[in-house]
Amino acid sequence: MIYSTTLLQSDLTKELMTLIHTLEHFPKPILIASTKGKIVFVNSAWVNCTGYCQNEVAGKNPNILKSGKTSQEVYKQMWNALHNNKTFASDEVINKRKDGSEYQIQTTIFPIRHNDATKFYVQMSEDITHRKKLDYLKREFLSAAAHELKTPITTLKLLIESGLRKRADKDEITVPVAAFKLVEKELNRLTRLINDLSDVSRLETGKFNLQIDVIDIVALIQESIEQMKTVSKGHVFVFTSCKPIAVLGDGGRVKQVIINLINNAIKYSAPNTSIELSIEQDNESVTVAVKDYGVGIPAEHRIHIFDRFYQIEENMKSGLGLGLHISKQIITQHGGRIWVESQHGKGSTFFFTLKKYK
Ligand code: ADP
Repeated sequence: MIYSTTLLQSDLTKELMTLIHTLEHFPKPILIASTKGKIVFVNSAWVNCTGYCQNEVAGKNPNILKSGKTSQEVYKQMWNALHNNKTFASDEVINKRKDGSEYQIQTTIFPIRHNDATKFYVQMSEDITHRKKLDYLKREFLSAAAHELKTPITTLKLLIESGLRKRADKDEITVPVAAFKLVEKELNRLTRLINDLSDVSRLETGKFNLQIDVIDIVALIQESIEQMKTVSKGHVFVFTSCKPIAVLGDGGRVKQVIINLINNAIKYSAPNTSIELSIEQDNESVTVAVKDYGVGIPAEHRIHIFDRFYQIEENMKSGLGLGLHISKQIITQHGGRIWVESQHGKGSTFFFTLKKYK
């Protein structure tokens, strides 16, 4: 343990020295500063948290930790409490470590008084960066999920209400085919969303079992294209089909990956542009590619887009940032690989591999 003895000896009583010895082993970061704003003691948990060593901070002002991100109001409340000999507590303080990285703390600061005068301030803190990030992600996710559920439900409600209004003067309602198509589209969207949510929770709990069979990847791609043509807005699908190619996989899950990639290609490219699917093969495996000519993916986002809930803010469309995460889990569990090549503004090509049946 290291503390600034010159600053301590004159003022601290024996009891305070004993307290400092105890605090050294306290598992949470502790800092003691004089009223003149000089650090007189930090414990080893504080050193671990901030990256500074004890020697280099002794005698320095605690504001070396300031990140500039804490609101002035928080400091105002802090000094107000401390000048009135009260304890200050907050979970809004954002500090900066020695390496410049920021962290958020839940902190309690209280004055130590000696002979009727405040001599020191003791600050106990806890790094809550991770907890705050999780809270933030949870809030973002709940609001995105609520939004995603609301959109199709609003459309369905409007369709039903207008049907019922028409029924007021007739006993039978003739529903136009277009309305049925819209209902089907919105129900498909809801089903996809609910399936994604339940897949993610199954992935977390390890209950994601594949039924591996011999499947024809060419037929699966053709089926997926037919299904997605109904969703697309005039996109031109290009796929030069060839003889069946037998691969080992769970047909339902592999189709889910292809549909997800086509769905993204539709979502992130302009109507009437091409979406090209292709297959390459060697003795061991096949590589499926889904290429679009859409917005593309900036380089800094490429390594993150397979992460759970990851969405690129500037490309924000409907969705929860789950599709690629689930696709990656499916392909990885098949022993394959999934990746993307992209040019920002020019388009993206997603690839995945599967083992051939021999
Ligand atoms: P989402 O439901 O948001 O589409 P995904 O997991 O399918 O979730 O995709 C994650 C993010 O990756 C998307 O929010 C989007 O920004 C980006 N992305 C995925 N596919 C494409 C694509 N073909 N073109 C451009 N960006 C894409």
